[in-house]
Amino acid sequence: MSLLEVKNLQVAYGGIQAVKGIDFHINQGELVTLIGANGAGKTTTLKTLVGMVKKAGGSIDYDGKDSASIAPHDFVRHGLAMVPEGRGVFAKLTVEENLHMGAFYRNDKAEIQNDIERVYGLFPRLKERQKQLAGTLSGGEQQMVAMGRAMLSRPKLLLLDEPSMGLAPIIVQKIFEIIRMVAAEGVTMLLVEQNAKLALEVSQRGYVMESGKITMSGNARDLLDDERVRNAYLGE
Ligand code: ATP
Repeated sequence: MSLLEVKNLQVAYGGIQAVKGIDFHINQGELVTLIGANGAGKTTTLKTLVGMVKKAGGSIDYDGKDSASIAPHDFVRHGLAMVPEGRGVFAKLTVEENLHMGAFYRNDKAEIQNDIERVYGLFPRLKERQKQLAGTLSGGEQQMVAMGRAMLSRPKLLLLDEPSMGLAPIIVQKIFEIIRMVAAEGVTMLLVEQNAKLALEVSQRGYVMESGKITMSGNARDLLDDERVRNAYLGE
């Protein structure tokens, strides 16, 4: 069953069409990746899904509803969480306070505490640093906070924008391990990545975006084996 169904989505910034009529879907429980070069329109697509950017045309059905019927400030309440490019942690808040911000719309205190412990289980590094100001964490640690915070909202659909950006290879490996673990917990995810190889390796399906259009789609395995993908995105 599709949790997200996007049809003929179009987005423009002034006169520039950044997304030119794309179709894609994400099934319940799936991890799907969107790969593409810089400026292909991936971030714009994610922003449109959470109401940060207005669409110019097409439709987005999320969890059986037309997403246009959801107010932008209500997406989190409807289970749509995004970890933005650049992470967006609250620099002046501690790790633990950042996690609590993710649970802003919840009032099940005991469950929130359970979820915080679960996040600390996934990221022991954060447990050690729970009282540290997030702004003083390393890039990898901030990525962990951003992912943990998103998980605290108990998302039905988690959107991750370039989680590996700017991180050292060893930390990138760790972040992908965590993506795998979060997926194994049953969270549906849409992953946008420059690191196409790692992204496709953890995903079930993928889409390739070029200049605002989806030019290829399929099983992640098939895309990994595809010659065009290998040449253009896997550096081969
Ligand atoms: P990257 O990997 O570099 O982040 P992307 O695939 O996420 O690339 P987008 O950020 O979605 O690409 O950008 C798509 C196009 O829209 C680009 O040409 C970009 O310059 C343009 N664009 C993005 N945001 C804006 C904006 N706020 N105003 C005007 N143009 C924008």
